[in-house]
Amino acid sequence: EVILSVKDLTAEIDNNQILKGLNLEIKAGEIHAIMGPNGSGKSTFSKVLAGHPAYAVTGGEVIFKGQNLLELEPEERARSGVFLAFQYPLEIPGVSNLDFLRVAYNSKQKHHGLEELDAFDFDDLVKERLDVVKMDAAFLSRSVNEGFSGGEKKRNEILQMALLEPKLAILDETDSGLDIDALKIVANGVNQLANADNAMLVITHYQRLLDYIIPDFVHVMTDGKIIMSGGKELAFELEAKGYDWLREAEVAEV
Ligand code: ADP
Ligand code: MG
Ligand code: MG
Repeated sequence: EVILSVKDLTAEIDNNQILKGLNLEIKAGEIHAIMGPNGSGKSTFSKVLAGHPAYAVTGGEVIFKGQNLLELEPEERARSGVFLAFQYPLEIPGVSNLDFLRVAYNSKQKHHGLEELDAFDFDDLVKERLDVVKMDAAFLSRSVNEGFSGGEKKRNEILQMALLEPKLAILDETDSGLDIDALKIVANGVNQLANADNAMLVITHYQRLLDYIIPDFVHVMTDGKIIMSGGKELAFELEAKGYDWLREAEVAEV
């Protein structure tokens, strides 16, 4: 089952073309990693998938579970099963984390014609999922992300993912300056939630994240497109040789 199919995707921001013909296919049960040097367009790609309004898609297509993703509003993308880790990093004073999670959860349930949970039943569900992220229940009664440390925000993000059980989870970790604990939280979350029916797309500048998440496919992105794909060994090769090696390899091919 193909979950995501991206063909010749081009996109720009403020009239600067950033994505320059990106191709990618992700099937159910797969974990994909996109790596690449800073400024290659990795975050742009995840924002375009999320439907960030600052980016204009100028060509190509993105099909998610047989549906044209690009014509859906960001909220519809989320409800239909696309999870973007940076989608909820906002601090929302006055809204408890528990209420926020319940609204997000019920919104997805409603979209799929599934049962919505009342406060009591939701409480039970959340407590069960807290184990995935080893998060203290005290965080549920605090305002969303308010005063949370980087690692706590990261846990909260993975908790959201554990509750929403997305079909496609996209984790863009590049700019978040993750310490080793946060890396492990992300990795454990991905490893525990990955199953035969969903897919994970982990975007990272750092090879070390892939010491904890074993991807089925590694793609290298430079200058707005994927220029090389391979198995997990490609990540080790990049770690050993750096990104410059690719540029040289590319030049040699021309
Ligand atoms: P990565 O996540 O791979 O580090 P990004 O997607 O964040 O890369 O950035 C890709 C490129 O887009 C960079 O060269 C960056 O400078 C450029 N860029 C980002 N925002 C804008 C903008 N508002 N106007 C012009 N260029 C931008
Ligand atoms: Mg960057
Ligand atoms: Mg980035």
